[in-house]
Amino acid sequence: MSMRDLPRFSGPNRTGELRLNYLDRLARRELRVARCHDVTPRYRRVVLTGEDLQTGFPYAVFAPDHVRVFFPHPETGVLVAPRETPDGWVSDGEPIHRDYTVRAWDPARHELTLDFVLHGHGVASRWAESVQPGDQLVVNGPSANWLLPEDCPRYLALGDETALPAIARIIEEAPATAHVTALIEIAGPAEEQDLTGPATLDLHWIHRGPGSLEQGLRAWTPPVDVAGLFVFAAGETNALKPIRRYLRNDLGLTRDQIVVDGYWKRGVADFDHHNYELDDN
Ligand SMILES: Cc1cc2nc3c(=O)[nH]c(=O)nc-3n(C[C@H](O)[C@H](O)[C@H](O)COP(=O)(O)OP(=O)(O)OC[C@H]3O[C@@H](n4cnc5c(N)ncnc54)[C@H](O)[C@@H]3O)c2cc1C
Repeated sequence: MSMRDLPRFSGPNRTGELRLNYLDRLARRELRVARCHDVTPRYRRVVLTGEDLQTGFPYAVFAPDHVRVFFPHPETGVLVAPRETPDGWVSDGEPIHRDYTVRAWDPARHELTLDFVLHGHGVASRWAESVQPGDQLVVNGPSANWLLPEDCPRYLALGDETALPAIARIIEEAPATAHVTALIEIAGPAEEQDLTGPATLDLHWIHRGPGSLEQGLRAWTPPVDVAGLFVFAAGETNALKPIRRYLRNDLGLTRDQIVVDGYWKRGVADFDHHNYELDDN
């Protein structure tokens, strides 16, 4: 049975209308790296395995969920992650964690795939730069499946590299009858990936410097009738603000037609995306 069949929806979520399927229990999984490879020079794919995946993983189709990944301390190598006890979740120290999108789940091999942007700073990026098979991580969650609406004729998915795993999943998992436009801002031509899916795809790579996501969005011709359009946007928090305003004010999209999520903030380590301010005018 897929997660979509489970009648445990609650809502609304903070975008107003989308449905969140809260999971009964937050699972803590101690995992190790099975293998890794570079998809592009700045993008590393890490496949995780472990006993804690043998009983499955709550993967929901067309729901680009994220997990909370706990990393070893970069100097001591000690990995601190909370454990569930009868008195609640406890940690023996200060955990270091970041959020990552579930890029893929292989139910036959019990493997979970995460894609890491190698941006050159930060605990997570540095861990991914030097990752080796056998390295350990703790992965908590997801706490909910974020179910995107499946009945829209048109989807627009836009973002930077950090949103690429989610956008790739939207492309791969959108219904075959739909039309998906993807606008993805990357460092340059070497960062382009092969992305395909069953829907009709209109894919635009935007090379940072000469272009920006906002310019790409403004250059895009929206459908004449935007009523059937659903938009997913994620990436650097400040870059998303004019994008959200354009979607709401210029294109006239309603709150329930858009998800805009700040995945990171320039100059801020360990940015909490729950602090992304919805500039809702
Ligand atoms: C729901 C969600 C899903 C996400 N999914 C993914 C994913 O699948 N893959 C992925 O790579 N990231 C993803 N991210 C973004 C990732 O969590 C952040 O980029 C995080 O800050 C990386 O941690 P770090 O330890 O490398 O850097 P931090 O210690 O958090 O930050 C150190 C410095 O690096 C800067 N920085 C952080 N990220 C970037 C970046 N991408 N480019 C340039 N500078 C940066 C910060 O502004 C800061 O100055 C996701 C975030 C959220 C909220």
